[in-house]
Amino acid sequence: MRFIFIDPNLERNMINTTAKFSDLVISIVLALSLCLLLFSCTTTGKRASGSRTQKMKSSPNWKDERFVNPLPRQEESILEASKKYLFEKSEFSSPKRPIETIQRNRADFDSSPVDGIRITWLFHSSILIEIDDARILVDPVWSKRASPLDSLGPKRFFEMPLALDDLPEIDAVVISHDHYDHLDHRTIKRLGNRIPYYVVPLGVGAHLEYWGIESKRIIELDWWESFQTSGVTLTATPARHFSGRSLFLSDLYQTLWCGWVIAGKDHRVFYSGDTAKFHGFVDIGKQLGPFDAVLMDTGAYDQLWADVHLGPEQAIEARLELGSGLFIPIHWAGFDLALHGWTEPVERIMAEAEKTGVEIAIPRPGESINPRNPPVVKRWWPELPWQTPSEAPVVSSGLKNSTTELLAVQQK
Ligand SMILES: [Zn+2]
Repeated sequence: MRFIFIDPNLERNMINTTAKFSDLVISIVLALSLCLLLFSCTTTGKRASGSRTQKMKSSPNWKDERFVNPLPRQEESILEASKKYLFEKSEFSSPKRPIETIQRNRADFDSSPVDGIRITWLFHSSILIEIDDARILVDPVWSKRASPLDSLGPKRFFEMPLALDDLPEIDAVVISHDHYDHLDHRTIKRLGNRIPYYVVPLGVGAHLEYWGIESKRIIELDWWESFQTSGVTLTATPARHFSGRSLFLSDLYQTLWCGWVIAGKDHRVFYSGDTAKFHGFVDIGKQLGPFDAVLMDTGAYDQLWADVHLGPEQAIEARLELGSGLFIPIHWAGFDLALHGWTEPVERIMAEAEKTGVEIAIPRPGESINPRNPPVVKRWWPELPWQTPSEAPVVSSGLKNSTTELLAVQQK
């Protein structure tokens, strides 16, 4: 038998060293968590309080302490979604070569639009709409990532074609909902109080105020409510989606989500925000149309979350139900947020538009479109493999009537 003599001092030192090391690890983990928490607190924003909450709670769309959809959302299984992400993601879900953009500067917007309307698709759902002498900036995202963190999260496919400091004078910024690819904390801070108005759905104002926007500039609206500025009426419209920015999912459905109708004296534009299919498009078209252009959510879809985003064929159906307007796909070619190939949305849109006779324009990033005289669709994206609607259908839950039935009822 061998005796091992351990010097009690050495043992004490070893215990101390181990204790010191574990203390150090715990301290580092705590410090990192605290940093993440503090940092994400700023970027995640702030929950509404006071009169803001009162207005939210008196909304007909607020039930059981959260906002609700016009048609309930069936939530996807996280397990199934994870499996699909691991085994079924397209190898073409993001571009392998740089995307060529049209570089713009402030001088490009000096002259008024030829027909009183000009729509410039900048990126994803960031759009500059010049309409009847007003300039409206939609869901501006200039950050590198759709994320609370600078170094983690979905990265943009291309640099903005227009520098933020080169923006022409803006009459109002409209926000559709508080997801990171639509409400960007860094962009809002940079735009700051030089924007006369931020027009947002209920509850979103609390984030803006927390980031330094003066409360007099923040206009919070419920669905169907309007705000007028610079001769333009901005109306929030229903959408089927959800909201939330917390990394811990603690603020799901706590702010409202919406689409927007931007109506000047001679022109009208519909912007869908993020939405799945529901029966509200006929009503929106009837009450707030006719539209010159329809900017429709056309990307980041999947059958697993068919109650969150429109599939391409559904996006064309929604346009038919709205009744009018040049179809312009948005919410594609921005971030890798789903499983489909990055060019699939527009391939499917082109096929469906041809079938249904819907007029479309597919601008290159930075390109301006005149809806009264749209350019012929020219493929500026690469030809990559994609799945057809029969290979990867997107069918939302709870829909009772087809587009044909809805339109037949409307015409009676
Ligand atoms: Zn969203």
